[in-house]
Amino acid sequence: MAGAISPTPCIFCQIARNSTSTTLLHTDEKVVAFHDINPSAFRHYLVIPVEHIPTVKDLQSRHEDYSLVSHMLNVGQTLLRRDAPQSEQYRFGFHQPPMNSVDHLHLHCLALPYIPRWKHLKYLSLGPFGGFIEAEKLLEKIKPFSSIPS
Ligand SMILES: [Zn+2]
Ligand SMILES: [Zn+2]
Repeated sequence: MAGAISPTPCIFCQIARNSTSTTLLHTDEKVVAFHDINPSAFRHYLVIPVEHIPTVKDLQSRHEDYSLVSHMLNVGQTLLRRDAPQSEQYRFGFHQPPMNSVDHLHLHCLALPYIPRWKHLKYLSLGPFGGFIEAEKLLEKIKPFSSIPS
């Protein structure tokens, strides 16, 4: 198609460029973090890469992607430990297509309890509606073959 340079502005790209009113909880050259607009838990943050990566399916087993995801996880853990130290449990993970809502990779960082309780249904990793993958599991999947010192 002629001139098919995506005209659709991606909302998360705009947030990453800080061109919205969204309050950023963390920014660095690789990732930004902010409050989920529709929280499911006591604390619910999203960590996204500044670069537009659509979904977990677009991640590959290479150092670049592995270190990006582990950095996202690190940022999320640091924020939740700071803001919800008393939380009963933390969860970190990604929705997989077709369960993802926005096509810009985003790590859900949840400090439980779920509010309201039924919201846990959105974060099942098993069963017919299990469209959620734990960050640790994803890291295992995309771990490059040449081992990284841990
Ligand atoms: Zn984007
Ligand atoms: Zn999601």
